[in-house]
Amino acid sequence: MADDQNRHDEETPGTRPETVFDGLAVAPGIAIGEAHLRDCRTLPIPEYRLATNRIPAEQQRFAAAVAKTRRQIGALRTKARGLPDAAAEEVGYILDAYHHMLSGSRLIRGVESRIETMRINAEAALEAEIQEISAGFMAMKDSYLAQRADDICSVGNRVLQNLIGEPTRGFTPVPKGSVIVSDQITPADAAQMDPRRVEGMAAALGGAEGHTAIMARALGLPTVLGASNLLSGVRNGTMLIVDGGSGRVIADPTPETLALYRRRIEDLQRKQRALARLRKRPATTTDGTDILLQANMELPVELTQVLQAGAMGIGLLRTEFMFMNREDLPDEEEQYDLLTSLIGGMGGQPVTVRTLDIGGEKIAVSLVDEVGSSAASVLGLRGIRLSLKLRGLFETQIRAILRAGAHGPVRILLPMVSSVSEVRRARESIKSVAGRLRRRGVPIADPLPPVGVMIEVPGAALAADAMALAADFFSIGSNDLTMYTLAIDRADERVAYLYDPLHPAVLRLIQFATQAALRARIPVSMCGEVAGDPRFTALLLGLGIRDLSMSAHSIPRVKQRIRELDLAAATQRANQILEQTDLGRIATLLDDFNGLA
Ligand code: PEP
Ligand code: MG
Repeated sequence: MADDQNRHDEETPGTRPETVFDGLAVAPGIAIGEAHLRDCRTLPIPEYRLATNRIPAEQQRFAAAVAKTRRQIGALRTKARGLPDAAAEEVGYILDAYHHMLSGSRLIRGVESRIETMRINAEAALEAEIQEISAGFMAMKDSYLAQRADDICSVGNRVLQNLIGEPTRGFTPVPKGSVIVSDQITPADAAQMDPRRVEGMAAALGGAEGHTAIMARALGLPTVLGASNLLSGVRNGTMLIVDGGSGRVIADPTPETLALYRRRIEDLQRKQRALARLRKRPATTTDGTDILLQANMELPVELTQVLQAGAMGIGLLRTEFMFMNREDLPDEEEQYDLLTSLIGGMGGQPVTVRTLDIGGEKIAVSLVDEVGSSAASVLGLRGIRLSLKLRGLFETQIRAILRAGAHGPVRILLPMVSSVSEVRRARESIKSVAGRLRRRGVPIADPLPPVGVMIEVPGAALAADAMALAADFFSIGSNDLTMYTLAIDRADERVAYLYDPLHPAVLRLIQFATQAALRARIPVSMCGEVAGDPRFTALLLGLGIRDLSMSAHSIPRVKQRIRELDLAAATQRANQILEQTDLGRIATLLDDFNGLA
């Protein structure tokens, strides 16, 4: 759990003291740059004059956006109550202040009056009012008041986002070299980060295994989440160090701290150069067993990194990126073009396309109406359930995959499967889509792509024998498997300390599913985050897994670990670990074996 009581106070006359915020180590690496508070003055603002008879409707539209923002802040406030006492108090104080700014404040009154007297739309009126109030605060050259100017921007921008109805455009334009700071960064937000402009990310909320965290690792952006009272000490332009390996954010570092971290960056770069030399070497254990290392892909921009890392294919293409940050759905041609270019880019290596797994924290605005209140539920209408309900959506995606499969090897992977009948129904759909395309003479993958099942729901793991008869391959998703087995929200920083894939229940499910696949002689891979963590490599190989799919950035480190491993010893240690029931004992046995303890 993030604990932010740890603060340095090295006052230098005339400067702000160095402050340390502790959070969750989410994506390794060190970023140094100026803070860019995500909400401040970044949205494109529409501007137009209103006919007099439209003014009441415009006031109503503004009131609705304010009410929605109040509800959002109320929800954040509830979430913040679970933080440690001091942090809860501080974050609560800020959110209360935000709430207050939305009730009859100068900001709200000012906007209402501009709409009325200047006859301009609500967005333009709000933007002008934010500018005027924050300029007034900034002119007072006082750090406390400057922070209030940022608060006005934050609140104002939330209302703007709700007015514009586009919640995800908050990160453009970002000054080059910035560190993005926010109360919360959603996966859709993270998908918009350009690693050439952004140095790193830090947020007050968020767990270490949520999709934002995965996206950060995929982009190679040093990131700390769950640094609870971060926003109380950081404003636009604050110099920041984000140490994504230790989960630490340092604001206004002293020259000594800066020098120390610059040396650490050089050190990390040296290590990365050494690892890069492994690119062309095989991932073979000391006793000569070949391990297949593939890449997980969240965004097409990762292709270069995937190729540079020497991945032997894409073991998991998360197709959600095609559906996020837009209001419409991608049509068949758009999906086909994207997939075809990825397949072409992989030059004959297989691409495993996972069908849409929207739901939970991954929201597609275009599907909210269809999904209703299930949209944000991790137990709701998501993954394969959604695809089987919205057949048109599923079949469009399948048509695109099958057509793209004419250009190179693809596999189809079904997410969130909980029963064999879902696999059967999905297969029937795939077969009938293929039949229709063939009859129309459209070139498609021939033979049809293998259809695999994600093993990420405990029920699917426990029914692995039956699943293995219905599926062509398994891909074990330890991220969700851990979440559902232990009933711990992977994106919630308040329960992050309980989230542990080494829990004996999770390990047994992985073992059970792997053995079922081996008995049925179907390929089984691990594509959860543990695949990319060298701490788990010996254990996974020891359990019988020979295919690993991970963020491209992790491939060199895992390959290095594989090349020093003796499989017989790893198998023996894995068996020993699986006999344990105590989590501490399991961790010790693993770390001893890894030579870390
Ligand atoms: C998993 O759950 O382990 C997985 C790989 O899928 P995602 O992280 O996309 O939910
Ligand atoms: Mg999953």
